[in-house]
Amino acid sequence: MHCTEAGKPLIKFTHCKKSIYSFSVPRRCPLCQQEVGSAKLEEAPVSISNPFTDGHQEKCSFLLRPTQGTFLREYDGKSDLHVGITNTNGVVYNYNQCGVQRDQAGWEQSLSVPLVQPNMFGLRDQWDRYLEDFSATGAWLPHRYDEDYHNCYSYTLSFINCILTTEGKEQLDKNEFTEKYVIPRTRLASKYIILYRAIEKHGFYAVDHPDQGASPPSEVLCAEGCV
Ligand SMILES: [Zn+2]
Repeated sequence: MHCTEAGKPLIKFTHCKKSIYSFSVPRRCPLCQQEVGSAKLEEAPVSISNPFTDGHQEKCSFLLRPTQGTFLREYDGKSDLHVGITNTNGVVYNYNQCGVQRDQAGWEQSLSVPLVQPNMFGLRDQWDRYLEDFSATGAWLPHRYDEDYHNCYSYTLSFINCILTTEGKEQLDKNEFTEKYVIPRTRLASKYIILYRAIEKHGFYAVDHPDQGASPPSEVLCAEGCV
């Protein structure tokens, strides 16, 4: 679960009336140098859920990753993102200037949004065939690619809309798609990345408890458990 591609796990503990984030619980508090050992229950360390997953382990999901590099190392909040859809075997279908790609590697640190509820057996059974048939249509030939108007987003959104139509549901337009599938994930990822890089640089990251006057960095608390 904690493979290096997804980054090291983060934990949070309480000391000096602050929430302190780090990669592991240190023997001594980095602020007061006292031993952290005999923690009260409410001070016990908790793990912070990592927003990134290995996309090749995700079935029937929408995936996002930076076009270049990885989230934890290179993403700056504005970098171009590349998106794709997984089949039931973790093959990532995505569209670029070379046409539809079927990637078996390269999406190990992705943001993922499941597209099929666990009880939708019919859709799950047909998923790979839908995805393959959809990808074989002329719309996704290499020469049709346009960086702004006919790109990886067009491909995934069209596929999601085909599925929604099949399910008798309303289609999403580009803005709804971005608001529903892209922005919540990238926002969460950005907070986590800031926290992660600060810990890499300084060994820890301390914020005041929210009930003692919230400072902006304490927003990272949202990164817990809501993925
Ligand atoms: Zn302390």
